[in-house]
Amino acid sequence: MKKNIQDYIAELNSAQKEPTLHKEGPMIVIAGAGSGKTRVLTYRIAYLMSEGVDAFNILSLTFTNKAAREMKGRIAAIVGNSEAKNLWMGTFHSIFAKILRIEADKLGYPSNFTIYDTQDSQRLISSIIKEKGLDKDVYKYKQVQSRISSFKNSLITVKAYYQNGELQEADAMAKRPRIGEIYQEYVERCFKAGAMDFDDLLLRTNELLTRFPEVLAKYQNRFRYILVDEYQDTNHSQYLIVKALSDKFQNICVVGDDAQSIYAFRGANINNILNFQKDYHGVKMYRLEQNYRSTKNIVEAANSVIEHNKTKLDKDVWTHNEDGGKIKVNRLVTDGEEGRYVASSIFENKMEHQLNNGDFAILYRTNAQSRAMEDALRKRDIPYRIYGGLSFYQRKEIKDVLAYLRILVNPADEEALKRVINYPARGIGQTTLEKLTITANHYKRSIFEVMQNIQKLPELKINSGTRTKLDNFVTMIQSFQIMNQNANAFEVAEHVAKKTGLLQELKKDGTPEGVARLENIEELLNGVKDFVEEQKELDGTTGSLAEFLEDVALATDLDQDTGDDDRVALMTIHLSKGLEFPYLYIVGLEEDLFPSAMSMNTRSELEEERRLFYVALTRAEKQAYLTYTQSRYRWGKLVDCEPSRFIEEIDEKYLEYLTPIHERRYKPMIDADIFGEVDKSKLRLKKPVSGTPPKRFDSEAASRKLRKIKPGGGASNTANNLGTTLEAGNIVEHIRFGKGKVVRLEGVGGDKKAEILFENGGLKKLLLRFAKLNVI
Ligand code: ATP
Ligand code: MG
Repeated sequence: MKKNIQDYIAELNSAQKEPTLHKEGPMIVIAGAGSGKTRVLTYRIAYLMSEGVDAFNILSLTFTNKAAREMKGRIAAIVGNSEAKNLWMGTFHSIFAKILRIEADKLGYPSNFTIYDTQDSQRLISSIIKEKGLDKDVYKYKQVQSRISSFKNSLITVKAYYQNGELQEADAMAKRPRIGEIYQEYVERCFKAGAMDFDDLLLRTNELLTRFPEVLAKYQNRFRYILVDEYQDTNHSQYLIVKALSDKFQNICVVGDDAQSIYAFRGANINNILNFQKDYHGVKMYRLEQNYRSTKNIVEAANSVIEHNKTKLDKDVWTHNEDGGKIKVNRLVTDGEEGRYVASSIFENKMEHQLNNGDFAILYRTNAQSRAMEDALRKRDIPYRIYGGLSFYQRKEIKDVLAYLRILVNPADEEALKRVINYPARGIGQTTLEKLTITANHYKRSIFEVMQNIQKLPELKINSGTRTKLDNFVTMIQSFQIMNQNANAFEVAEHVAKKTGLLQELKKDGTPEGVARLENIEELLNGVKDFVEEQKELDGTTGSLAEFLEDVALATDLDQDTGDDDRVALMTIHLSKGLEFPYLYIVGLEEDLFPSAMSMNTRSELEEERRLFYVALTRAEKQAYLTYTQSRYRWGKLVDCEPSRFIEEIDEKYLEYLTPIHERRYKPMIDADIFGEVDKSKLRLKKPVSGTPPKRFDSEAASRKLRKIKPGGGASNTANNLGTTLEAGNIVEHIRFGKGKVVRLEGVGGDKKAEILFENGGLKKLLLRFAKLNVI
């Protein structure tokens, strides 16, 4: 018999029932991990609908689109699919991108505006810095981008920046007095290109709601019930949107856990949750204490760690679940060994308890740590999936195809145009592009418009040969636009991939990498096809290219999960928020890595790291493992490691040491808050690791490379088993540094080292015991 809403509510405990059945007015649920906050939110929506609230009047904001999809699925199971379909549910970015498209003209934007991803923003900022003749070592484009992003998240517009002496002074002190100018140019260029970056989606929504009271009224009336999950991680801009929209009906329901606030570094403001009661009138506060997710050992261990934070709300979290096994702590010599241990432990647990791969997750502090885990899992033939890292849509070949699609939807899109105007090569050089850019900036028009009007702009001094090439490009894009009026998104995308020469270019390449890229494009086209079909099922339309591009632009790192195959999950702790796994491995628990070396200067930074550890540990349902190594390659150097203070902060009675913990050498934390702002260099307890910063490591590409180079070989050819014959002159491949030539060898046995000149120019001495080298 089909369950009705009452059956579902009967599954809740009494503390959960109250917020679920809460009538009107503002409410907040503050509760620890695994206590059912997300479940309450989900059931509450179903309950409201069963009480006659129209799905169109409910807005629910989640941390990922995947979480929204899952929630919608659950609600659909309770109230029926046709009703649930109409709910507005998604991340802040995806929901407000939709609203901005509807209202774009009010802000002077086209409704087909492009969404610039972080890379697009960085590229644009980098060209502005260059155009202004600024020193790129002082004005580092990534830093400038993150500064501009933080302005936007605090709603500091260009005008507000220029009115704020303090901000300008801070930039001048940092020897970057022209940040304001870059900010202004960046905003203008985005506007001219009909593009919004991620932060604009929130900033412009705020602008829309403030400048146009009738628009605000429209959405206030529409979204009579607003619900927000993970409220502790909202930033100022998000806070204001929620505040404005809920102002009329005050039916705002937020759930969160201050102990799980982990995005302060990106502007999230923990005060949003702490001040909620002050922001609304007559707030009803609910607390949940019973954890349903984890064993007693895990719940109590997590409580004992978070106790060390001073800034927190007091909470009791307990569980009726069984005690479970103690948390296993293991010390390994290197990260390679750590990977092998985790892989074999997963293997053994699988055998012993008859588990699936999907019952396991490996969490780490930084993306780079996935490599050792991947190597080990591969060797054991354990399927895994990495979340985050270089996402599919960030791959070069995919971005190339998407760039063409973006131009045809919005020809003003400057970054997309620059990306492919001469790719595949069609003889349009850098000088021509620069001339076009300068002219476009001068007339405040898009580059594409300048290209369309070249004959009227003799001052451009472009010769007739180049002009023909530019004309051909314009004609090609226009032909795509014409096709797009009648054909569906898949047909257009396929046509574009062929006609632009992208496919031919990769076919010509013929290398294993080229083949892999070709396969990726095929995969992208499959994705467009799926999108078209899905859309047809959903609302009978075929789905436009513009809608597809929006989906892609806003896919969060977790959204790649199709959930249809059985794999071990690998991800950073930041991404694991809200999720749960029966068996959990938290790796790399070492001082300077976790807590991160960058976060040990003030108490508040350290407390955020501790909350991150709390989030990690509370993802575990049945069994948790903590591992650390004695030495690890960091930024190309082998460094000695010490166990993380977080291990020691767990009450010992919940731990089982598989190896004796070795001595801790760090000094206790200096309470920086007492001294106010402190000189960070003096506070640093250990010498910072020098060397080049870590590159985002495309592990999949690297592993593909290794597999392709030595078919069927791989592991047996690695030189880190010392028996391998390695001599001067050998060409080797290192998983991180790429190809190189062995210059000389020195030392014997376990101390044997190879000096290798890598193709990228670096000369490195590597200890063979640790180095992962493939002899080619
Ligand atoms: P987090 O802080 O990690 O986001 P949360 O508070 O949102 O956690 P949920 O994810 O909603 O917690 O719930 C944790 C787990 O406990 C889920 O598997 C959920 O289905 C289960 N659960 C919650 N409440 C109950 C209940 N009353 N009976 C049985 N299981 C429950
Ligand atoms: Mg949750």
